[in-house]
Amino acid sequence: MLSLLTAPAQAGARGPADVDGARIRAADREPGNWMAVGRTYDEQRFSPLAGINTSNVKSLGLAWYADLNTFRGVEAAPIEVDGVLYNTSAWNLTTAYDARTGKVLWSYDPKVPPEFGRKACCDIVSRGLSVWKGKVIIATLDGRLIALDARDGRPVWSVNTFEGEPPWPYTITGAPRVFDGKVLIGNGGAELGVRGYVTAYDAQTGGKLWRFYTVPGDPSKGFESKALEMAAKTWTGEWWKAGGGGTAWDTITYDPKLKLIYIGVGNGSPWVQKFRSPGGGDNLFLASIVAVKADTGEYVWHYQETPGEQFDSTSTQPMILADLKIGGRLRHVLMQAPKNGFFYVLDRTDGKLISATPFVPTTWASHVDMKTGRPVETPDARYGETPVLLSPGAGGAHNFNPISYDPQTGLVYFSVVQGFMTFAAAPSWEGRGLGTAFGGHEDLRKQQAAFGDAHLKAWLSAWDPVKGREVWRVPYPRDGSGGTLATAGGLVIQGTPNKTLAIYRAADGRKLWEAGVQSVPIAGAITYRLGRDQFIAVNAGWGGGLAHVQANSFRDLHVAMARLLVFKLGGKARLPPPPKALPPAPPPFSRASEGEIKHGGELFAANCALCHGTMARGGIKDLRQMSPDTHQHFLDIVLGGARQAQGMASFADTLKKEDAEAIHNYLIARANEDWGEEARLH
Ligand code: CA
Repeated sequence: MLSLLTAPAQAGARGPADVDGARIRAADREPGNWMAVGRTYDEQRFSPLAGINTSNVKSLGLAWYADLNTFRGVEAAPIEVDGVLYNTSAWNLTTAYDARTGKVLWSYDPKVPPEFGRKACCDIVSRGLSVWKGKVIIATLDGRLIALDARDGRPVWSVNTFEGEPPWPYTITGAPRVFDGKVLIGNGGAELGVRGYVTAYDAQTGGKLWRFYTVPGDPSKGFESKALEMAAKTWTGEWWKAGGGGTAWDTITYDPKLKLIYIGVGNGSPWVQKFRSPGGGDNLFLASIVAVKADTGEYVWHYQETPGEQFDSTSTQPMILADLKIGGRLRHVLMQAPKNGFFYVLDRTDGKLISATPFVPTTWASHVDMKTGRPVETPDARYGETPVLLSPGAGGAHNFNPISYDPQTGLVYFSVVQGFMTFAAAPSWEGRGLGTAFGGHEDLRKQQAAFGDAHLKAWLSAWDPVKGREVWRVPYPRDGSGGTLATAGGLVIQGTPNKTLAIYRAADGRKLWEAGVQSVPIAGAITYRLGRDQFIAVNAGWGGGLAHVQANSFRDLHVAMARLLVFKLGGKARLPPPPKALPPAPPPFSRASEGEIKHGGELFAANCALCHGTMARGGIKDLRQMSPDTHQHFLDIVLGGARQAQGMASFADTLKKEDAEAIHNYLIARANEDWGEEARLH
């Protein structure tokens, strides 16, 4: 018996998710599997599979699909290993499927307390999961890192990754990354005021190994490292009281060659620098890429993309590691297209800038000075109380959506948004929530609404990182296109805002195939092979930050329930008919005075707009289209928490009864104001 138990695993007789560092490093030897977040450690999201290619892709069809039972955003790419597909959806609901048939093998619900929905600036999404030696590792919105047994989905270990006094409004939406026995996770929350950090845990036990804070804390308590002591010299005032921000809410990349971890650091808390660091300064390591030693978390180098940022600029966007020939020399590079509109190529051995090229109009900085590596700001960048119009806006020229690099074409593929946004500082921070130190009053929002969308352009970009120029683009009628996947079949695969999945020729962007999927796949796709069949899997679940706050151009976007969709050549599965959009109920008459409505609008901007949209347009739920039942129970919902289970937690801690009534009056007024237009859209 003992000999049976200790016998080495045969090829093909492995246990589920039997993945280690050696196997991921050699991923190109088994391209049929997709074993890590970006497939390989360099996160190129390029598959060597060519079974589906430019000549046969027209016969691609749906092999199977799974309902995800949510209308919230789904931003994760699945993982596939040895015939099992692992997926994670809204509220971190995690499911293992037979990758060939879609049969559910197990499902695990971490039962995230719904009140955490209120702390998630950009929906209750998860951007993925990892596998390691028979375990599936997920990170939950409420801060837990959980290892599940890949055989049955039962938890093996679970740790709380949130720490600190006072309890700050952290959330996790990023995918945990696993390498050499360690699992890494950051967090989000800079919109509400937190101090960012990344922690490494033992993948087998959940034991804490190291933590890297991305911004300095209270100097009177001593600094955790020399790097933070250095960083503190770039801050002024009492930044630590609001946390400083700098959350690493998504991309953390492992470099096995250099034994480094690259951390993408987020924006400041609060947004406006004069409230955060009154004397200015670079505010390290906000909006930077920081390299730390993989074994210890010790600082090695940093490159700050947006010094002293105050545009919600983050450097948390996906990074790609590659070896490129630039100027006749082979360079080990890190590439990124962050929110601030410049495409960066860094030498990842030392963090030195190789190139920074704008891929949209950047009106906050004219260019990046190659001598200093710093952006040359325009006067508007240091905005005050007078609103200024800047590009890119807070949503970024490119956001979380996965990007891919095809070594055959030498091109990087990513979704681009060109848009302007009004920025202004509030007169004072006093009495405002941390997220509203930005001049978030309704007048400013109206000004933005009058201007914003008219200048919005969106497209898929194929970018030459060596020459620093766009080679081709596919324009879209609006923002919202998804992550990209490139394959050796000469294909680029992307979800579109037209509620389709589209496949383009990698060389020139010619559309080869497109299928309606009833929702917008904002996530990135993966591909895998079982026997002779190559599959393409993608989550189609419209939502996320874009749907939350930039909903103005999505009012006619009626989507189906989120689904996991899996395609193969000759696939014959069919989706059920799409849901019919019901016409909204006409709004009740408004009886409130102009002053009451204005007051309600201010309260709405400070408390509700983050999820329910600027000027109550769209968002996670369009509150101009409340049902008679919702109108009747408005106070029960806002103060009593009657819809907590759906993520709408009570606001009784910040709003009084008359505040909630003022917000209700504002919403009724907004519904009447827009009624004719809304009814026409249906
Ligand atoms: Ca942010």
